[in-house]
Formats: sequence, structure tokens, C-alpha cells
Amino acid sequence: MTLPLHDKYFDQFRALPELGEDPALYKTLLESTMAIPWKIDWATMRFAYIGPQIEPLLGWSQESWVSVEDWAARIHPDDRDNVVNFCVSQSVAGVDHEADYRALSKDKGLVWIRDVVHVVRNEAGEVESLIGFMFDISERKRIEHELIKMQKKLEALSFEDGLTGSANRRMFDERLRAEWKAARAVQQPLSLVLLDIDHFKQYNDLYGHVQGDSCLVQVAGALQQIDLGLRGIVARYGGEEFALLLPERDEGEAQAIAEKCRQAVEALRIRHQHAPGEHLTVSVGVGTVIPPVDGEARHFCDAVDKLLYTAKQSGRNRVVSSYTA
Ligand code: GH3
Ligand code: MG
Ligand code: MG
Repeated sequence: MTLPLHDKYFDQFRALPELGEDPALYKTLLESTMAIPWKIDWATMRFAYIGPQIEPLLGWSQESWVSVEDWAARIHPDDRDNVVNFCVSQSVAGVDHEADYRALSKDKGLVWIRDVVHVVRNEAGEVESLIGFMFDISERKRIEHELIKMQKKLEALSFEDGLTGSANRRMFDERLRAEWKAARAVQQPLSLVLLDIDHFKQYNDLYGHVQGDSCLVQVAGALQQIDLGLRGIVARYGGEEFALLLPERDEGEAQAIAEKCRQAVEALRIRHQHAPGEHLTVSVGVGTVIPPVDGEARHFCDAVDKLLYTAKQSGRNRVVSSYTA
């Protein structure tokens, strides 16, 4: 694929009537452009010409570019084989082409180059020479790299809860949808644990919202320590509610994990003067389903939420599961 931008450089090789046929004029034009022109004689595979701009860019003198071997040797080893093979095959096929690669500079640095190549044929249709332009695309690559990094960071952040670093609700919903489908397809169990901090409104009233936030961070940290096995995730489900999605976990396993969660929060020994045990606790609902063909994930979530409600109603700081209900 040749970018239209580059066509104007090749135009300089064509005899434009308004510029006449003065070789000195063409030389000046070629050597004052940002792109570096070059020509390789196909029969000998030697450079017939390379612009003097090459030296300030890569440090190698104009005279040191003798044959295609010099060009290949100055390509980063990780790019070399692919680029050389690609360029040779395209040239043999007589196809104009371009390649991006990291060129090695004399001072052992790297410069990203886009080499745009035009295959010149004689009247018999045989390849006679290659002419091209090297463009310094380092800045473009640097910006591209920054953008990719930023994009990845944004993607990660958009699935992460800003306060606790757990998966956020959006991530939970996506994973639930995917795991629901997977479990339905193979008729494997899928378990869900919902936790809600007990008397948290009072905690905030008593100790302030900032300490309330720190409490949520500690609870999330404790839950993240628990081994959830294959593809299990902890998500912040709502304000002071967390959800654990546990693919391929049956009722007994899910109930054991739920109990571990309850105990882990209790073990934090976060003081809560107005809680019955004077420490922070959670209530937990846990359910397991093998998704029926006509079932919906949100109905499963509603059912587990009811179990959590039962845990609240029956005294808090406990696990209620469909297994034990
Ligand atoms: P219950 O035991 O029935 O769950 O009582 P509760 O007080 O925990 O339940 P309720 O739903 O009445 O209150 C939840 C509280 O959680 C209310 C809100 O102030 C607090 N909360 C929700 N999100 C945050 C948050 O991000 N930070 C802090 N500090 N508090 C939050
Ligand atoms: Mg709540
Ligand atoms: Mg609560």
C-alpha cells in the first residue's frame, strides 16, 4: 500500500516540462527534501545513489552505502529477515511496496524508517532498478506507541473500580454475560456470591466517609486474597456491596468460598462501635446454577440477592446459600 503522500516524491523523478531537464535542478530538489532518496541497480544489487541526508540521520556516510548487504546489515536484527524477504519478493514480482523497520544508527541508536520503494522496469518489462525514499517515522512511531499505551490504560481503567482496584460493575456484567453463556453451553455450574457490609451507614456516620472509604479498600483487599480458582473474579457490585463470580464452582465449593469471605472480613477486626460484635462484618448470599436454556443471568442475580436479604433478616454476619436454604 503506497500512501498518496509519497507520490509527490516519486513525481520528482519524472521529467516535468515546466522544470526542464536540468540534472542539477533535480539533484538539488532531491537532496533538499526531508525524505532520503536512493537507487539500487537490480543487476548488481549495488547502490547507484543515496541522498546525503542519510548521514545526519543515521551517521553512516553516503559512501558507506555500497550494496544491499549494507542496507540489510543496518536493519535491527528483529526486523531484518521479515523486511528483507518482503522487499525482495515484492521487487522480484515487480510490485511497488513500502516497509517500516528500525534502522541501526552508527552510534548504536535506532531510527524508525519507512522505506517506500518503486520498481523500475525496462522496455522489455524486466526489473532494472529500485528507487525509493526513506522517511524518518520515529516521531510517528513514538506517538503511536504512546497512544497504544494510553488506550490500554484507559481500557484497564474502564474495567477497574477507582477506589478499591477491584473489577467494577461494568466488568462484572461483561464477565457474567460471558460465563453464563459458557456455563449454559457446556452445562457446567456457575456460582455467585454477593456480600454487603453490615451497618455501614452507621459506620460512615460514626467515623466519617473518608474512613468508610478506607474500610471498603480493606474489605476489597481481604476478598482479593482469597483463591477463587479458574476465572473467578471479585467485583465492586455497588456502594458497599461486592460480588464474586465463580465459574465451574459447585454449591459446596461456592459456599466454602463465601464462608472464607465472611471470616476474612471479620479477621480484619475493623472496629465498629455500633455493630453487635463491635467489629465490621458482612452478610453473604451465595447461589449456584447450571444455566437453563431459557434462563437469564439477571434472574439468577436477583435470586442470590434474595439470599443476601435473608442473611440480613436472620441476623447479619452470616452466609445464606441456596444449598443450605
Ligand atoms: P445493612 O446492614 O442493612 O446493609 O445496613 P447498611 O447501613 O450497610 O445499609 P444501607 O444500604 O442503608 O447503607 C449503605 C451505606 O453505604 C450508605 C452509604 O453511605 C454507604 N456507602 C455506599 N458507597 C460508599 C462509598 O463509596 N464510600 C463510603 N464511605 N460509603 C459508602
Ligand atoms: Mg447495601
Ligand atoms: Mg450494608
